[in-house]
Amino acid sequence: MQLTNYRGRLAPSPTGLLHLGHARTFLIAAQRARDHGGTLVLRNEDLDPQRSRPEFVEAMIEDLRWLGIRWSEGPDCGGPHDPYSQSERRTFYLAAWRMLRDAGAIYPCSCSRRELAEATLAPNDTDDEPLYPGKCRHRNDAAQFATPAGINWRFRVPEGERIEFTDLNLNSQRYVAGNDFGDFLIWRRDNVPAYQLAVVVDDAAMQITEVVRGADLVKSTARQLLLIGALGYSVPAYYHCELLRDKEGKRLAKRHDALGIRNLRERGLTAGQVIEMALSQAPP
Ligand SMILES: [Zn+2]
Repeated sequence: MQLTNYRGRLAPSPTGLLHLGHARTFLIAAQRARDHGGTLVLRNEDLDPQRSRPEFVEAMIEDLRWLGIRWSEGPDCGGPHDPYSQSERRTFYLAAWRMLRDAGAIYPCSCSRRELAEATLAPNDTDDEPLYPGKCRHRNDAAQFATPAGINWRFRVPEGERIEFTDLNLNSQRYVAGNDFGDFLIWRRDNVPAYQLAVVVDDAAMQITEVVRGADLVKSTARQLLLIGALGYSVPAYYHCELLRDKEGKRLAKRHDALGIRNLRERGLTAGQVIEMALSQAPP
């Protein structure tokens, strides 16, 4: 089937070298764009200035190309939705912040790191954003802020509302706002937009029709659906890929140096062998 309006994206963060787990997600994303006769976009998610490095941008582009992945819009080749690096897209995020502020959907949160650590309920899964206990959620002074800088900003989730969606790989998903996740950050005190906001704004601006990414982000999709609703964007399709795990069952991370694409290549593996490892259910 040819759906020529299909637009998919690869959205790596240049905070380290790509490993087999990233390769798996990006190979699946590229395959799905090909199957649909669609367009693939490379977006450089270098939002965090503390952790992003230009040399990792170069390395990820080189590694993706080595794996045979091709895209037609990106930071290296430009395109109709320039720029393709998040660090250059702040005006888009600021416009969305203003819209959310004016709609009363967000509020400034002055809780200190320490207060949060003391009051926060433990999250069910260790790598997820903890549930915000709600101290600042009744603040109504958002309109007095001309810019988001200097304070954390949270999205006020509709307590008890069910967020349901059908994932094209993992089937039906259901979360309860305020229970599975709380009022989440959309802008950080250090004046960096949060991942949740940037990804929603960029996917809408770049007219992405299907989001392919790792299963660690399934729950974030529920948060993002709330943001998409508040901003009046159309909802893309979602396809979350199962994560690769190591022998101990832990998901692959930057510490798994041996499974870095670059490392495997330097050890003499061919792109075909690395692709096979990335797509197999039981990696080494
Ligand atoms: Zn607070």
